[in-house]
Amino acid sequence: MKKIISIFILAIFLFQPLSASSQELILPERETIEAYNPELNIDELIEALPEGASLEDPYLWLVNRDNRITDPTEMPLAYTGGGIPYSAEIVEPFEALITGAELDGHYLYAVSGYRSVAQQAANFEARLNQNMSEGLDYDTAYYYTDMFVAPADASEHSTGLAIDLLGYDWDQYGGDLHQAYGQYPSAIWLAEEGDEYGFIVRYLDGKQDITGYEYEPWHFRYVGAEHAQFMNDYNLVLEEYLALIQMRDEAQSE
Ligand SMILES: [Zn+2]
Repeated sequence: MKKIISIFILAIFLFQPLSASSQELILPERETIEAYNPELNIDELIEALPEGASLEDPYLWLVNRDNRITDPTEMPLAYTGGGIPYSAEIVEPFEALITGAELDGHYLYAVSGYRSVAQQAANFEARLNQNMSEGLDYDTAYYYTDMFVAPADASEHSTGLAIDLLGYDWDQYGGDLHQAYGQYPSAIWLAEEGDEYGFIVRYLDGKQDITGYEYEPWHFRYVGAEHAQFMNDYNLVLEEYLALIQMRDEAQSE
């Protein structure tokens, strides 16, 4: 019986779906983090990391140009009031975020949430075709498309943990996904208070070379409150936070 149980456990272990953490993560070097955060002491930061912070945490799933999605990402979905899909795993914190914002007078709506790899591929294709229809040759059109649209397998929206949010305060002045939104009261509230609910501004201004994306004050990513608060306190992006965890792990295994 014991043997059967252990074979069963082994089978679960072998056949559980691969998560991003089972691949080798490509993360910024220590020197890069030092260069971008000259006011921080990296050793002290590593010391201060939340004890449970782990590269295996599914809410710290990293998707970017260096860390692509290798498996399909079907998942149970929930829908915002406006019908935008996102991971059913984060209904509670997402609804708490929306309610918390309202209590402070900020009314938010989701613009975009979960996208499958296939949908992202279609988005990329559509923008590429649009650029070419405006007279650009293929290579130039591809260059500009790639600058603004994530490749099919490199969009964080495919994790279901990323939601583009705007406030109605900004809606009156345009309502587009524009960096100027970052100056509006609802965006400032989200950037400052969102961490309490587990959400971070994923693409910070000044960290473009690390994230691979321009500043996006509307793109929020769920990572869990403890991690989000740490990142907000020290103005770190997810890539940097994961690199710190990796450095801690490597130091501990020495
Ligand atoms: Zn987004």
